Amino acid sequence: MLRTKGEAILLRSKPSGENDLMVTLLHGTRGKVLLLARHALKSRKRFLGSLELFNHLEVEFTERAGVFFGILESSAVIDAFPLFRKDSVAFGQAAYACELVETATRAGEPCRDILDWLLDFLVTLNRIGPGTTWSRVAELKLLDHIGLAPGLDRCSVCGGELASRARQAYDVARGGVLCDVCSAGGTNHVSLGTLKTLSVIRKSDLSLCGRIRFSGKAAQEAKNFLGDFLRYHMNLDYPLKSKIFLEKLNPRFG
Ligand SMILES: [Zn+2]
Repeated sequence: MLRTKGEAILLRSKPSGENDLMVTLLHGTRGKVLLLARHALKSRKRFLGSLELFNHLEVEFTERAGVFFGILESSAVIDAFPLFRKDSVAFGQAAYACELVETATRAGEPCRDILDWLLDFLVTLNRIGPGTTWSRVAELKLLDHIGLAPGLDRCSVCGGELASRARQAYDVARGGVLCDVCSAGGTNHVSLGTLKTLSVIRKSDLSLCGRIRFSGKAAQEAKNFLGDFLRYHMNLDYPLKSKIFLEKLNPRFG
């Protein structure tokens, strides 16, 4: 039996029978873990009321070889995010970041840097509040963390400089934007302004990212551009449920 302690984020939970909760946690060394929280529905005291979505937790759990889920032994809140309980857009944007991470991570694979990034994202979103750029920030920063972010500044094939023009060619299979030589044969296009804003987001820390805005139709263009890469690289069942929720709530925040 493997016993593990440490920090985790609660990505997902659903009732299991009348008394129990099945939770998915993101843990630094064990990656994405599925755990049964016995009696969590019957008594909130059992886990000190800690099992709210997206909470940053200190947990202890056990896993047995060959068993599909482990057992959550104890859990306590390190950090809760009150804004997500009262603002549905902030809740949706937190859910989207968590669902993207859940899709990008695997059971048993360490993911300390992704855990740290997601925590930073939730803390910053909770502090600054929802905004029209957060979904793009989550997508681009996560792709960057897993080494799959699109090339935005130079040709993704030959590394050459891009010609100075309003719209640039890109190809998801070849990793990003392309120069005139490498783009011969037809590809998709994205405006230079959108690429520049995405490039700023990629290089900026999260507290600055929350204040960046796309202008006019660039917002939709950035959504389509990153959506192409997410579908291609992450084999996403796209759009994700949290994305559909956000789009229904207000497409500007989706
Ligand atoms: Zn090239």
